Amino acid sequence: MAGRSDVERPGAASWVPDRLSPDSLRTAMQDCRGCELYRDATQVVPGEGSTDAAVMVVGEQPGDKEDQAGEPFVGPAGRLLDKGLAEAGIATEQVFITNAVKHFRFAGTRGKQRIHKSPDRVHVVACQPWLLAELELVRPTGVILLGGTAGKALYGSGFRVGESRGRLQPWPETLELAHAPDWVLTTTHPSAVLRSRQRDQDFEAFVADLTVAAGALR
Ligand code: SF4
Repeated sequence: MAGRSDVERPGAASWVPDRLSPDSLRTAMQDCRGCELYRDATQVVPGEGSTDAAVMVVGEQPGDKEDQAGEPFVGPAGRLLDKGLAEAGIATEQVFITNAVKHFRFAGTRGKQRIHKSPDRVHVVACQPWLLAELELVRPTGVILLGGTAGKALYGSGFRVGESRGRLQPWPETLELAHAPDWVLTTTHPSAVLRSRQRDQDFEAFVADLTVAAGALR
């Protein structure tokens, strides 16, 4: 892996195509060298879902399974997310799912499993043009942020999940979009629910947050 001194992070903006479509984004993202994370990842993991989706769900970054599949939320956290959305009454076809950072961040192995490390602020900032391009493409009515990294990707480094969790927030004024979503809702990341010792209780709270988003979509 590269040492600190030879790491270049120009950010993803130069790779974002002028004409946005699912194919143009997917193709251009594969060539992205906006930060060093592409080096140790298997492939880039773009968002998935209908471009007519009413809501965009934003997680942190691909994990081991997502890195290998090239699709977001295909592992256990994805199954929990699907269950939570279904219980809240949000249909799969209403959702476009993506991550704040599009490449897996390799941090070693544990047995057969490859471990990832949370992205640093520099990676989130470098990758933000892809998230904004996906938002311009889909133009969702609302955005659901899963956890602190997704929150910081939109609201900056001072963002704390606990301060806004479960409430509809306005789109951040600092981020210009031609078609800004009407609202943003933050909840926990499903992998945090999976790790919790009080998983049932935390899952209930997760569904309660998603139900607020479901209500806003009606
Ligand atoms: S993590 Fe984002 S900015 Fe970095 S190389 Fe991958 S797509 Fe580009």
